[in-house]
Amino acid sequence: FRGVIAVDGPSGSGKSSVCREVARTLGLRYLDTGAMYRAVTWAALDRGLDLTDQPAVAALSRALVLDVATDPASPRIAVDGVDVTAAIRQTRISENVSAIATNLDVRSDLIARQRALIEEKGAGIVAEGRDITTVVAPDADVRLLLTADENARIARRARELHGNDDAASLAATHAQIATRDARDSTVVDFLVAADGVVEIDTSPLTFEQVVAAVLRVVSE
Ligand code: C5P
Repeated sequence: FRGVIAVDGPSGSGKSSVCREVARTLGLRYLDTGAMYRAVTWAALDRGLDLTDQPAVAALSRALVLDVATDPASPRIAVDGVDVTAAIRQTRISENVSAIATNLDVRSDLIARQRALIEEKGAGIVAEGRDITTVVAPDADVRLLLTADENARIARRARELHGNDDAASLAATHAQIATRDARDSTVVDFLVAADGVVEIDTSPLTFEQVVAAVLRVVSE
């Protein structure tokens, strides 16, 4: 398989680790489009911009050199030569990224860059995000929506963020996920599978089972 696999899903659907594993297994490249929204957020905060100043943030976005490495073994991202792979996972980025993702001029800039990355060299790629199956790559060979019920998503995120899913971690994570989902869904309708998109509910599945389910769809 040497084509394009487009995967959308909300935070906590487990899509990042699943997509990386699928890319590794099939020998494809891997593109995390959420990392690009996070990188612009990092840069806007770094420059002290008012994130609600949409024209200023969009101008910054267009001026940034975003270096996106698409090796699934070590996906990295650099902004103007600064490696921000770790920094973009900070809570302050997660809390502010929706302000950037709802900026339509930033979106059109990043969507154009994502399309170029997907088309680069014509090699196969797994691209994941919120609008890949619908906007970025609606012509992808395989289009998938990974969903999970809220409890499953919160438990996964709590383990990622706090290393466990005790009551305090679950409560903190719940608030974060609900806020970000509500903001995200004002831009992209990622919880509903578009026409021709295969939905996989990951809630009752282990990581390995989700990977197997995706590989099955790819081989069909
Ligand atoms: O996937 P991740 O949670 O890292 O994405 C961070 C944020 O980037 C999302 O909450 C969403 O606001 C935004 N995003 C988006 N469109 C994409 C990917 C991410 O709006 N294709």
